[in-house]
Amino acid sequence: MFDTIIIGTGPAGISAALTLKQLNKNFLWIGSKSLSYKINSAEKIRNYPGLPSISGTEMKNVFLKQINEMEIEILEAQVTGVYDLSTHYAVLCGNDQYEAKSIILGLGVESVKPIEGEIELLGQGVSYCATCDGFLYKGKDITVVSTSKEFEHEAKYLAELANKVTYIALYKDIDMNLNNVTVIKGMPKKIEKENKKMKLTLADSVIESDGIFMLKAAISPAVLVPGLEAAEGHIVVDRQQKTNLKGVFAAGDCTGRPYQYTKAVGEGNVAAHSVVNYLNSLK
Ligand SMILES: Cc1cc2nc3c(=O)[nH]c(=O)nc-3n(C[C@H](O)[C@H](O)[C@H](O)COP(=O)(O)OP(=O)(O)OC[C@H]3O[C@@H](n4cnc5c(N)ncnc54)[C@H](O)[C@@H]3O)c2cc1C
Repeated sequence: MFDTIIIGTGPAGISAALTLKQLNKNFLWIGSKSLSYKINSAEKIRNYPGLPSISGTEMKNVFLKQINEMEIEILEAQVTGVYDLSTHYAVLCGNDQYEAKSIILGLGVESVKPIEGEIELLGQGVSYCATCDGFLYKGKDITVVSTSKEFEHEAKYLAELANKVTYIALYKDIDMNLNNVTVIKGMPKKIEKENKKMKLTLADSVIESDGIFMLKAAISPAVLVPGLEAAEGHIVVDRQQKTNLKGVFAAGDCTGRPYQYTKAVGEGNVAAHSVVNYLNSLK
C-alpha cells in the first residue's frame, strides 16, 4: 500500500510530488505524462517568481526536467473513483485499483460545467472514461463530447470499437478524420434517456445514440470522491489543505480562486506536508 496517492499532474500535483519525493515518502502519482493542458496553453506567464516571461510550453519543459531529474514516475491514467475503505482509500482507474493511506487531490477545474442530465445518467449511458467503458459500446453508435484536443486519442480508441461516432468538439484545430466519425460543432445542452437510447440536445439538433462519453480534464470532485464536501464546484479545505474526509487533502484550482500557478504550487506543498503529519499521526 502507498503512503499517499496524488491525483493530478498540474502545478499543484507537481509541487506535492516534488515535496513528497524530497521527504522520502512512498507515493503513487496519477495523471498525464504531458502534465496539464493548462500549463501548456499559457502564452506568457509574467507572475511566476524566478521564471520571468516564460511561455506555458517552456514552463512545462522546466517542470518535466525537474520531475525527471528527481526520478519521479507518473502513472498515465484517469481516476474514475476514490473510495473510503475505513482504514485507507481505494483509487480506481477503470479496472485497476490502487490503495493508499492518504490522498492528495490536485484535480484542477473544468470550465465546462455538467449539463442537465449528465450527473443523473452517469453510469446509465453516460461515461467519463473511454478505456473503462468503451468495450460496452462495441459495434454500437456513440456520441463523444470532448473539451480538448488532448482527448482525441481516447475518442479514436472509441471509434475503433464503435459502429459510428458523433464527435462534438468544444475546441479548435480538430483532427478526427476517420471513416466512422462525424464531427459536429455546437454546445451540448442536456442529456435524456428514452427507451434505452441516449439523447443529447444541442442548440439546433438532437443526437440519438447508445451511449455518451463526456471527455474532460476534471470530473466534479464530489462525483469522483463520494462524501467529499464541495461548495460552488470547489473542494472545501482548511489552511492545512485538509478536506472533510480524514486523510484526503486537496490543492490548486480545485480548492477555489484565484486560479494561479503560484497558488497551486503553494497549496501542493502544504498538502504534502499535511500528509506527512497525517501519516505520523497514524503511527
Ligand atoms: C490559457 C491560460 C493561461 C494562464 N495563464 C496564467 C498565468 O499567466 N499565471 C498564472 O498564475 N496562472 C495562469 N493560468 C492558470 C493556471 O494554468 C492554473 O491556475 C494552474 O494550472 C492550476 O494548477 P492545478 O494543478 O490546480 O490544475 P491543472 O493545471 O488544471 O491540473 C490538473 C490536472 O489534474 C488532472 N486530472 C483531473 N482529474 C483527473 C482524474 N480524474 N484522473 C487523473 N488526472 C486528473 C488534469 O488532467 C490535469 O492534468 C492560465 C490558465 C490558462 C488556461
